Amino acid sequence: MGDVIQIHDEAVKRLKQESLVPTPNNYAKMYCKTAKDMGLSPVECRKFKEFVQKLPKSDQEYIKNKNLETFEDVMLLILRRVDTNNLKKVTSLLHKSLQPSILKFTDKEVLQLCEDIIDSPELVFQPDIQDKIDNIIRKRIGLDKEELNKRTKEISALMGFLSKYMKEAISINEQSGGDIAKIANEISELDDIDETTLKEFQDKLVNAANNIQDAVKQTTQKLETGSDYVKALQNRIKKLEEKLEVAERENYTDGLTQVLDRKAFELEVEKYEEMYKRNNMEYAVSFFDIDFFKKVNDTYGHDAGDIVLKTFAQLLKKSLRKTDIIARYGGEEFVVLSIIKDEAHLPLFLSRLKKIVNENKFIYKEHKLKVTFSSGVVIRSKYDSFEDAIKKSDDLLYEAKRNGRNQIRFDNGDVI
Ligand code: GH3
Ligand code: MG
Ligand code: MG
Repeated sequence: MGDVIQIHDEAVKRLKQESLVPTPNNYAKMYCKTAKDMGLSPVECRKFKEFVQKLPKSDQEYIKNKNLETFEDVMLLILRRVDTNNLKKVTSLLHKSLQPSILKFTDKEVLQLCEDIIDSPELVFQPDIQDKIDNIIRKRIGLDKEELNKRTKEISALMGFLSKYMKEAISINEQSGGDIAKIANEISELDDIDETTLKEFQDKLVNAANNIQDAVKQTTQKLETGSDYVKALQNRIKKLEEKLEVAERENYTDGLTQVLDRKAFELEVEKYEEMYKRNNMEYAVSFFDIDFFKKVNDTYGHDAGDIVLKTFAQLLKKSLRKTDIIARYGGEEFVVLSIIKDEAHLPLFLSRLKKIVNENKFIYKEHKLKVTFSSGVVIRSKYDSFEDAIKKSDDLLYEAKRNGRNQIRFDNGDVI
């Protein structure tokens, strides 16, 4: 107690001497400085140091460089903090950019990294993760470029052949045309024509006509061969286009369940949002998560889990209309976008789906497994943005989990 009063008196004196306004913050600083000079270490001053030691290294350095000495000073740190929602947006963009656009490369490391940063966005601050991301982006751009070069080269080689054939056919035509023009010129330059000259011209004309006939025959032949060749080329180009299309589709399909993957889902969302904004097209966002799925893996093995996922996706797919979108959002989570024409349809369809899944026997070897799911369903127009809508449907899903699972929760409070 004696120490405290002594430090206090001395600190107040010094504040006056240095003409500092005795605000709580100035006082707190002077108090600890004075205590230190007096060789004392009161508990209030130790508290701040202990707090700083618990912060990450980068924050500790910031505090040291900026000479922050009190809790009030440290408020500045809050301004440097990154908002987690924003960070999630950035990592989701990053996730998109890691996906190859033309060629699918199923590198386990890439898939794992994508999953990791979606689950824990703060990982992107780690230098080793940043190096990995850098490498993957380079690799992805390299592979895409290589593939595009290969395809473009094939097409341009085909176009080269085609143009060679066309040129040959055209040059034969030009030659025969030239012969006739020459004869016509000679005739026009003659004043008197005797019989011998006339005979000569007759022969020349017959000759030219024969030549023209031959040339036309040759040209036709060339064009015919050319046209067969063009057809063959067209076929090859079509096949190449098909291959590209398949590669693109495979790229967007989840390998295990054959429904859209996350990237394709995001593209579909853009389309749905455009129609929602332009044509007031109302739609529902439904999140599905299989209940106690980990137990299936733990009890029967990963293969059994895979079969449950595949079958669940098939049941979902069968229950949906053609215009609905279904995607695998993550592990055992699926998301569905369904256009709403008749409001009454949605709960009917979902309760039918619940019944189908509940009654279905998921067959794995000699086992018949029972599976339930939980779901959260929202109507897009009740929210300002798609992000708000999907967040709400995720929240409702977790509410369904907390309330015992095997439950579908709607944003109007209904529960099935
Ligand atoms: P809850 O009812 O709360 O949803 O519990 P849960 O066990 O379903 O959920 P949890 O998130 O604890 O476990 C999900 C498991 O799904 C963990 C993960 O190993 C597994 N998983 C993710 N992807 C796959 C996959 O492709 N195949 C298999 N077999 N399992 C997967
Ligand atoms: Mg689950
Ligand atoms: Mg889950």
